[in-house]
Amino acid sequence: MSVPVLEAWRVSKHFGAEKAVDQVSLTVEPGTAVCILGPSGAGKSTFIRCLNFLERPDDGYVFIDGDPLGYERVGDTFNEVSGRKLSRQRQRVGMVFQQFNLFEHMSALENIIEAPCGVLGTPRKDAIEKGMSLLTRVGLANKADSYPRELSGGQQQRVAIARALAMEPHLLLCDEPTSALDPEMVHEVLAVLSNLVSEGMTMIAVTHEVGFAREVAHRFVFMERGVVIEEGPSSDLSTERVKEERTRSFLAKVL
Ligand code: ADP
Repeated sequence: MSVPVLEAWRVSKHFGAEKAVDQVSLTVEPGTAVCILGPSGAGKSTFIRCLNFLERPDDGYVFIDGDPLGYERVGDTFNEVSGRKLSRQRQRVGMVFQQFNLFEHMSALENIIEAPCGVLGTPRKDAIEKGMSLLTRVGLANKADSYPRELSGGQQQRVAIARALAMEPHLLLCDEPTSALDPEMVHEVLAVLSNLVSEGMTMIAVTHEVGFAREVAHRFVFMERGVVIEEGPSSDLSTERVKEERTRSFLAKVL
């Protein structure tokens, strides 16, 4: 049996007295795409941020390729790792944000090669070659020298996806990747993500795009009030097929 790319085990995160994420577990096998759905405030974003320690869980563990994130396993004990080791562990997990988060003073290509050159020490020439092939993959080879302000939201998000891929992540996390986009640009970003899934990228996406979740992802997770209410194959994402009443009433509102 293959080792899951991600295994979250009883991950919890509190903000003050509020349990934003309450003992959420999730296992994602290689090549699987999972969409996390749920109402605003359900803890979806906090949970996905816990998966790469942008939010450090208060409790629980996150395993990437079987290795505990933030810890080093010595026999049966988990010892916390230093910041530098944690950074190295996190390199296996790429992230795409709602607001793109590109470096405004860098061109599209510079945004993409920054981490490979700065963090991995990839020679600039090789990073540029790979960066160009990634830009081609997201349909933006002609925008290599453009700055974020010169690009549409959809183009910026596609550069952000290429930037995440430049680190060759084993897992790609997407936190509402199309929520900040004008409706006509949603499709171009979903098409890029859909291609990645069909090429076998392991992905977890928080999204309100139920059509994408049903047609492109393999599985869905429905969260509310910090807990998983239901999970299942994405083909079950319809008001007729989901099992839980709360999932059904959510779908009835958004479909
Ligand atoms: P969702 O992504 O499902 O909309 P979030 O994970 O953003 O939900 O939020 C879950 C809950 O945690 C919300 O009540 C939110 O207000 C709270 N929350 C999220 N981030 C923080 C934070 N940095 N500080 C305090 N409360 C937060």
